[in-house]
Amino acid sequence: MVQFEAYSFTYTKHMSLKEQLSTLHQYFNSHVTKDIAWRKQQLINIKKLVIENEKPLLDALYQDLGKPNLEGWITEISYITGDVDHTIKHLKSWSAKQKVSTPIVVQPGSSYIRQEPQGTVLIIGAWNYPIQLIFGPLVAVISAGNCAVIKPSELAPKTSELIAKLVPKYLDTNAVIVVEGAVEETTQLLNEKFDHIMYTGNGAVARIVMSAASKHLTPVTLELGGKSPVYIDESANLSITAQRVAWGKWLNSGQTCIAPDYILTTKSLVQPLIDSLKKEITSMFGLKVKESKSYGRIVNSRHAQRLVNYLENQDVIVGGEHDIVNKFMEPTIVVIKDLDCPLMKEEIFGPILPIFVVDDFDHAKSYVLENDKPLAAYLFTKNKTQEKQWINEIQAGSQCINDVIMFNAVPDLPFGGTGASGIGQYSGKSGFDNFSHAKPVLKRPFIKDLPVRFAPYSDLKFKILRFLR
Ligand code: NAD
Repeated sequence: MVQFEAYSFTYTKHMSLKEQLSTLHQYFNSHVTKDIAWRKQQLINIKKLVIENEKPLLDALYQDLGKPNLEGWITEISYITGDVDHTIKHLKSWSAKQKVSTPIVVQPGSSYIRQEPQGTVLIIGAWNYPIQLIFGPLVAVISAGNCAVIKPSELAPKTSELIAKLVPKYLDTNAVIVVEGAVEETTQLLNEKFDHIMYTGNGAVARIVMSAASKHLTPVTLELGGKSPVYIDESANLSITAQRVAWGKWLNSGQTCIAPDYILTTKSLVQPLIDSLKKEITSMFGLKVKESKSYGRIVNSRHAQRLVNYLENQDVIVGGEHDIVNKFMEPTIVVIKDLDCPLMKEEIFGPILPIFVVDDFDHAKSYVLENDKPLAAYLFTKNKTQEKQWINEIQAGSQCINDVIMFNAVPDLPFGGTGASGIGQYSGKSGFDNFSHAKPVLKRPFIKDLPVRFAPYSDLKFKILRFLR
């Protein structure tokens, strides 16, 4: 039996993983987590956890990613408190039984849908928003009345350690446990049976997760990434466009799943766009970006090296300065000559912004359509026809017109990918639904039925049934 003592900080630290999971399953079966008051209390406690520990959490983000406090607060701390408030506000209506009409063939009777928790959910987080990507899913999982096993990313070790320390202090340890670790520990977790697995990260590991889940027919939610395109046309307000794109691209040093990955635009716009982006870089991070307190770091030297490799044989127009040891890369703009380069084939997930010149809107659209369905697809335009076409024809996890990333700040909008960018959604009601089973219930009184559905069958019964249908 696998021992997790070294990784677990919960009261269960002397129990094996299997014993811990069995405790969670038993607790779930005791029905405590179905109680709405219990769920609300846990949600309040999640909010308390992040508010009362704001400083240590922001410090951990800084140590892991050089994340500026303001960025950490807005994208992780306040994101979670907002998510909790929204969820608590709507929990009663989301979980209320939903009456549906009962057709004549089933009369007398009444039908409704009951939202039921699924059981124990494994949440595997990624490193780039290590607080949001654990507690965001947890809010959804708890709101739906489930137990959870949390596995934070080992690539954000300070945050992972802190989460493991804080969770048992604030949350019901019978229902939520933290398992720290890397590939080996996650593999051991994946060998166990869960009722749902929620994974955030890259597509290669997503395949491992899905294959492990298939052994137990466990449903999965896969929050993945990919190349999120931006198309900018001549009608767009360039300075506003540049400011929004620059913010979204260089937030967290480009390590955001819905960051603009690359820009498509027409020839006449390339130079003005580069000039505007350059202006924004200086205005946001100054002339010496490395000294800016508003600019983060790459998660580790391996990823910094991966990004530097992308610049080989490229036309670097802006930035390009890097320091692998100190995990730094400047905001960098590259004009793409050949689409067959790794920069245009792989998700960049860093501060390099390639610009590729297209002939027109249709050319941009067909390029996006030829590739995997992105997590987000961005368009900057005042042209209503193009806006309609972009929304109608591009399949993407999400779309945003004339801005980037900010759709994620709308609590009623679901979040998640499609195709290669993911399976399933969460955020607000979509998260509650995602971790619930919509159980149909039909109730009938003991009143004798018309004999039409019972054998022996006859032509007359057939006719009556057809009529009733
Ligand atoms: P990562 O390295 O933190 O890995 C994610 C998780 O997978 C970790 O908890 C890790 O322990 C686990 N893991 C790694 N290898 C494993 C293996 N072989 N078997 C089992 N588990 C394993 O994060 P990453 O994959 O580098 O994340 C970056 C990717 O995540 C990008 O593609 C990004 O776009 C995507 N992402 C998506 C979202 C979203 O919400 N859609 C959010 C953030 C990141």
